Amino acid sequence: MPHELPKAYEPGAIEMRWADYWIKEKLFSVPTPPPGETRPVFTLLLPPPNVTGRLHMGHMLNQTQMDIIVRWHRMRGFITLWLPGTDHAGIATQMMVERDLAKEGKKRRDLGREKFIERVWEWKKLYGGAILDQMKRLGVSVDWDREYFTMDENLSRAVREVFVRLYEEGLIYRGNYIVNWCPWHETAISDLEVKHEDVAGKLWEIRYPVIGTSEFITVATTRPETMLGDTAIAVNAADERYTHLHGKYVLLPLMKREIPIITDELAQPEFGTGAVKVTPAHDPNDFQAGLRHNLLQINVMDEHAHMNQNAGPYAGLDRFEARKRVLHDLQEQGFLVGEKDYTLALGKCDRCGTAVEPRLSEQWFIKIKPLAERAKEAVESGEITIVPDNHRQVYLNWMNNIYDWCISRQLWWGHRIPAWTCGDDACKEIIVAREAPSKCTKCGGAKLEQVPDVLDTWFSSGLLPFTTLGWPEKTRDQAVFYPTTLLITAYEILFFWVARMIMFGCHFMQGHEQDAAIKKASGWGDKKNDSVPFRQVYIHALVRDAERQKMSKTKGNVVDPLEVIERFGTDATRFTLAAMAAPGTDIAFNESRTDGYRAFANKIWNAARFMFMNVDRIEPGLRPGGGQECPPHTRGVAGFRVATLEDRWILSRFNRVAADVNDALATYRFHEAANRIYDFFWGELCDWYLELIKPRLNHEEGADKSAARTACANLVNLFDASLRLLHPIMPFITEEIWQAMYEGKPPLKSIALAGFPQADEQQFDLAAETEMAILQDLIVAVRNLRAELKVEPKVKVPIEVFAHESEIRAMIEHNQGSVERLANVEKITFVESSLTNRAGARSTARFDVHVVFERKIDVAAECERLKKELEKIEKGTASGQKQLGNPQFMAKAPASVVENLRKQQQELAVLREKTLSKMKELGCS
Ligand SMILES: [Zn+2]
Ligand SMILES: [Zn+2]
Repeated sequence: MPHELPKAYEPGAIEMRWADYWIKEKLFSVPTPPPGETRPVFTLLLPPPNVTGRLHMGHMLNQTQMDIIVRWHRMRGFITLWLPGTDHAGIATQMMVERDLAKEGKKRRDLGREKFIERVWEWKKLYGGAILDQMKRLGVSVDWDREYFTMDENLSRAVREVFVRLYEEGLIYRGNYIVNWCPWHETAISDLEVKHEDVAGKLWEIRYPVIGTSEFITVATTRPETMLGDTAIAVNAADERYTHLHGKYVLLPLMKREIPIITDELAQPEFGTGAVKVTPAHDPNDFQAGLRHNLLQINVMDEHAHMNQNAGPYAGLDRFEARKRVLHDLQEQGFLVGEKDYTLALGKCDRCGTAVEPRLSEQWFIKIKPLAERAKEAVESGEITIVPDNHRQVYLNWMNNIYDWCISRQLWWGHRIPAWTCGDDACKEIIVAREAPSKCTKCGGAKLEQVPDVLDTWFSSGLLPFTTLGWPEKTRDQAVFYPTTLLITAYEILFFWVARMIMFGCHFMQGHEQDAAIKKASGWGDKKNDSVPFRQVYIHALVRDAERQKMSKTKGNVVDPLEVIERFGTDATRFTLAAMAAPGTDIAFNESRTDGYRAFANKIWNAARFMFMNVDRIEPGLRPGGGQECPPHTRGVAGFRVATLEDRWILSRFNRVAADVNDALATYRFHEAANRIYDFFWGELCDWYLELIKPRLNHEEGADKSAARTACANLVNLFDASLRLLHPIMPFITEEIWQAMYEGKPPLKSIALAGFPQADEQQFDLAAETEMAILQDLIVAVRNLRAELKVEPKVKVPIEVFAHESEIRAMIEHNQGSVERLANVEKITFVESSLTNRAGARSTARFDVHVVFERKIDVAAECERLKKELEKIEKGTASGQKQLGNPQFMAKAPASVVENLRKQQQELAVLREKTLSKMKELGCS
């Protein structure tokens, strides 16, 4: 039966088919390993996309990198668990459904809480799977059997457990606090959810009359309407301008309220008048000052940012309308003394763009310092490493300056806070409990109402490393898979998510121990602490557009990964992101690169077809001779029988590339791994090796038949190993060809379960690499000369070769056929003296070659070429000399490096002589 591979490479058809196959066969599902397991374990948690999400380039990069690392571990024999799921995304999801309702002319309050939540669940059922379906198209090798949703019953139970425990430990408290309030969402949002934007505003100066004097104190503000809630004026104790006013009162204009003049560091003498108004209910700094001086907190706005009854005559007005009226009245009454243009950093809600209002409200908080201590230590001590290293300090700075975390949100969609208020007006007890209590623990009353707030979405996602493994029960899954091995994520959620996971993990998993045998096998034997949620964090770069601009909807430069996939295939898109992911730089995504990698896939496809054609002709039924089992048989290329120079060479090259790719992946140098494979597969295997073995494949008759068979078997084995090397980056095309190599009867269900090639040092062959390099130089030199002399492609030309050493001559003679064929040469004549001075000649340090062809060469062009050549030689000489003359370098460099450098210098000297003499001969200026 012939090997089946369609003529044209059509990624779309292949990719869908294999993505479905992997899921249907449950290839990436990981049952819990029983005690006694001694294989290493690799665990990775997928940063859960929002259930409202649509796949963007950031996901695509993130998931490509994760999938590469995951497949690589799996192929090296690790028990590899990649946990997928989605986040309920409180605000984002609620907004989606509210928008739908708005189309029907309804608000969520028209439905009521229960009906509204039902509606959200319906929405989730209909649309919540979209992002997961898109992930499937990427080929992500996650364990779909363990897919979770952050509001699943078991995860919700764990959330309640965590809340209650923290409350019982005194780490959760309720308090009046100034929070960032989004009037549109009607909820508190965290500092991290506020985006600051420079906008042109005004700075108004208002003067307050000091009671009992004829003086005024002038203050400046960008939000004059908040003055209605002022409860003090602050001056700095050291500011002598105001010493005589200490202890006096001012009369608050418009409200006619007497408020004290206090001394506080809030007032900085060098800013403006040195005096500031204090509005504890509407500014976070004033709030703190208010606590220091026991000031009244007067809230003048409601949750819609409308003025409330505390705003007197302005009650009921929207904040911006109130601002106009307040300014007008101040002006009229002679209190407004100045108006200046002013650029202010206006805080806006990250999701809806509404100007955030600092607002006093009752919220729930986590006392964060005790949790931050351990989280800081975990990174400082190296129990968790952060790559790249520069993010480590950013993390530590943040932990050092951390504020209590406001965890309550005034939303309906999310984990409702497990707290109930006693309805008895005299009691009002707050009861925090795992399950709904039936009566008040204090007064015994049965009128209990659950607190309406839900928890910040990051509260539940911060728990995922252990709650997805069965916590609060002690499970075998935790013993095996916790701590997870790695987290790959974006910088923008380092604090939102990564830091919170570390705090929660260190706290709730304190005392946890990973299964000792597994821990040892996985290489974590020396780590003291297993409470951390992951051993390592890799922060990936951003994907920008081709001009290095940040992608944004307003700029209209957002690249949709699904469109790119549609056009070039997932494999080519994955390869692009890997090849461009140099550490420390953002990726300037350029479709022309993706187009190039589609061509790469096509090249591999055609090479496979060429291979199958030969196998079917020479030895039908030939299968790869090894390399399937995982992890044995993964060193080098199994079943490869060295017969010729090109065999020795390609085998050596393969092993070097395998070594480099493994090194690169171990340190997240995705670009290096991708580029090494690309150069090997396209350049060395397809362009050179396939060409070099063609004569052997073509002489399948008589005595040469065994040579043809060997060449054929070598090719098959080499191809099998190369596909495995490429598989983590291009999973689809490698699966398709690999399955075809076994004609649908592979020894394993998928190449994804086969072994990842490791270097076999026995198969390194430096001599073969050196010899092959000389042959390649010779062939390329002749090709270039032919092009310069404009020799018709069909015409074979004779060449003359002068070899510097007899071994080189022997080697070239031995491979004469290859040179003749690949350089289109009629005949090689060896000469005994240098050919430098001949027109139509090229020189290297090891040989001179001359193409015998009757055509005048373009002297000017040749001189130009030689001049450039000379410059290159001199540059190389200078840099080598510099290194050899640098005592620091010489002290550190290994002997072999120095030896190579010296040899290179000698070669450059020879080449320089040759080039100069040729230039002289041609009369170049
Ligand atoms: Zn908002
Ligand atoms: Zn009560």
